[in-house]
Amino acid sequence: MKYDHDIIRDLMPLCIDGIASEKSSEAVEKHITECSDCKKEWEQMKKNINPCEYVPLLDDTVKYKETAKRIRKRNRWILLKVTCATLIAVFILGIIGNYIDGARFTPKGSAKAEIKEVLLDTYETPEQAKNASKPDITFLGTIKSPDKKAAATYALIYQPDKNETFFVSCDSDRSDLLRMGMWIGCGWSLGELNKDIGITMNGGAFDYENGAKWFGSVAFCVTDENIKKISFTMNEQTYELTPDEKGFCGIGYDVYNQNRQYVGLPFNGKISEGTATDENGRVLYSIQQVTENFAGKDVTYYDWVKS
Ligand SMILES: [Zn+2]
Repeated sequence: MKYDHDIIRDLMPLCIDGIASEKSSEAVEKHITECSDCKKEWEQMKKNINPCEYVPLLDDTVKYKETAKRIRKRNRWILLKVTCATLIAVFILGIIGNYIDGARFTPKGSAKAEIKEVLLDTYETPEQAKNASKPDITFLGTIKSPDKKAAATYALIYQPDKNETFFVSCDSDRSDLLRMGMWIGCGWSLGELNKDIGITMNGGAFDYENGAKWFGSVAFCVTDENIKKISFTMNEQTYELTPDEKGFCGIGYDVYNQNRQYVGLPFNGKISEGTATDENGRVLYSIQQVTENFAGKDVTYYDWVKS
């Protein structure tokens, strides 16, 4: 039985795949022994159908390992990016939260945030403070603790509607980890600038690092231009200071002495000796015991008195 070349060629793929009937296989085999064109076609087809892109198993493993490595590397990179993004988000949220709470990046910044509260205290009612004319604030200086975690910032606040100037000390600390290195106000003291006397002192002390440490400061604001040197004794130690161009000078001190005994706040007799002198060393003012009557009660304290 003779078959058409085309029919034989149609059957060839089935024979190669081994799914042709016995009869078809015999017909194809017989035909290619007789027909050289179809034999050529048969050889060609066998080559093409047999997968020639065979990849040895070893190569597969290498490829797999390379892909796995690439994926691991990519995953690590994604994890790193996610971690960084989370940390940055937490950091920014922390800064915003602290800022809203009144914390700032410098002691002066925290003092600025706190002065609102300080001003409120100079008025009898919050309404009066609200309706008051804008105060004029002059920052004089900041005194920091040796570990740079506590500070006292001194400023002058002039209130036009009262025609009064206050010498204010704003305490702040950065000892709390959650503050992220920002300064937060933790107290202030306010004193009226004594223009008649020509020298005013202020100060205070506060604890930080959850009460583990104390920082105190004493500062002077000089309005008498003749004052060139201030010397005073506190806790058995004598200090000598030179007012700067703003008339400001001060010291920071540990509220505990060398024997770790509490020595207390600067005033109430702690500073009982002191002089303010001119360029020739002449005493212009000195610290004296003063007794004043407050609401029917005699109160004794130490203050500057004109010589
Ligand atoms: Zn043929």
